[in-house]
Amino acid sequence: MKKIVLIALVFVGVSACKVNPFTGQKTLNFYPNSQVFPSAFAQYDQFLTENKVVTGTADAQMITRVGQRISSAAERWLTANGHPGYLKDYKWEYNLVNDETVNAWCMPGGKIVFYTGILPITQSETGVAVVMGHEVAHALADHGAQRMSAGTLQQLGAVAGNIAIQDEQKRNIFNQAYGIGSQVGVMLPFSRGHETEADLIGLQIMAIAGYDPYEAAELWKRMKANSGGTAPPVFMSTHPSNDTRINNLTAWAPDAAAEAAKFGVTKFK
Ligand SMILES: [Zn+2]
Repeated sequence: MKKIVLIALVFVGVSACKVNPFTGQKTLNFYPNSQVFPSAFAQYDQFLTENKVVTGTADAQMITRVGQRISSAAERWLTANGHPGYLKDYKWEYNLVNDETVNAWCMPGGKIVFYTGILPITQSETGVAVVMGHEVAHALADHGAQRMSAGTLQQLGAVAGNIAIQDEQKRNIFNQAYGIGSQVGVMLPFSRGHETEADLIGLQIMAIAGYDPYEAAELWKRMKANSGGTAPPVFMSTHPSNDTRINNLTAWAPDAAAEAAKFGVTKFK
């Protein structure tokens, strides 16, 4: 029985590598978009019905505008780098929710929520673009599906001989990977590697979208300044701010600006 599980794990491992177009690195991910996105879209719709979506205000329009610019920049980058059609299954949506929680997130397939509580820290459209770029990057790099894959391997290991993943199990794995069930819409922390990857990709796409990449480090400095007190922002618990991150973003900004120049963007807002 053990042997069968081992063979299954090896098979999964071999067949499950997908190359991340942004880094060129192989990643462990055996969940195609067709298996992840429908769950994400349903969870997102449910979240919107249970929360106060802000519409028609200048802030709500800004969230949509930044989201559209960032996703369109990602599309241009992917097409220019030999990955046309990479986003064909994505259904981008950008909503502002009236909630004082300091948070923002993006579910697989491009489903984004900003809470009004994060706006005092983002401060400007460019600050929103820093957070938007980072969150969109998690979705583009399939970090959620990778976490689901890792969770599945754990379950396969735990349930000896139970190789076929049933629908019910798949739902549980999805919910676990996204922390759904405990607190809807509050993402579990990503690994440090995924965070760094999202910072790097996010910085490039925000620059291509015309937003000043030198502002990214400034946003995280503000986030860090707000992380103390009795109620640290939720965003900080899933996105730990540290000096390495701020130093990385400062060091990478010139490269991001150079990348943007390839797309004819030389002035930033
Ligand atoms: Zn993140």
